[in-house]
Amino acid sequence: MKNSCLFCRIIRNEIPASRVFENDSTLIIKDISPQAPYHYLAIPKEHYSGIHNVPSSKGDLFKNLFASISEFVREENLEEKSYRLVINYGEKAGQSVAHIHVHILGGREMKWPPG
Ligand code: AMP
Ligand code: ZN
Repeated sequence: MKNSCLFCRIIRNEIPASRVFENDSTLIIKDISPQAPYHYLAIPKEHYSGIHNVPSSKGDLFKNLFASISEFVREENLEEKSYRLVINYGEKAGQSVAHIHVHILGGREMKWPPG
């Protein structure tokens, strides 16, 4: 049975999204509520709620995810503007969608530590 996860539904094209990069393993979309001049979400196509749930036999997920982000950053020349990658897990860390996603943000001054 198909799951009802928001990002799985976007990956399956059941819900529209602004798709900016896609390959067999990874989809990158524009965040619907951008927190910076640019704000993308890199989403592995396989559903796991957090990185700690990915079995070691599925290590290619991380390799493909970060290789895809790297390719996208180069395509968009984001390295010239600086960028920040963020993964939230759990309610207190601010996770609202229980499917691994890497926020790619930038285009403005960033504070550290994050709030
Ligand atoms: P997080 O809070 O870390 O789980 O991140 C979830 C992100 O998904 C938030 O930044 C939301 O703005 C974003 N989001 C929620 N619904 C959509 C959607 N339909 N299309 C694109 N981004 C979304
Ligand atoms: Zn999902």
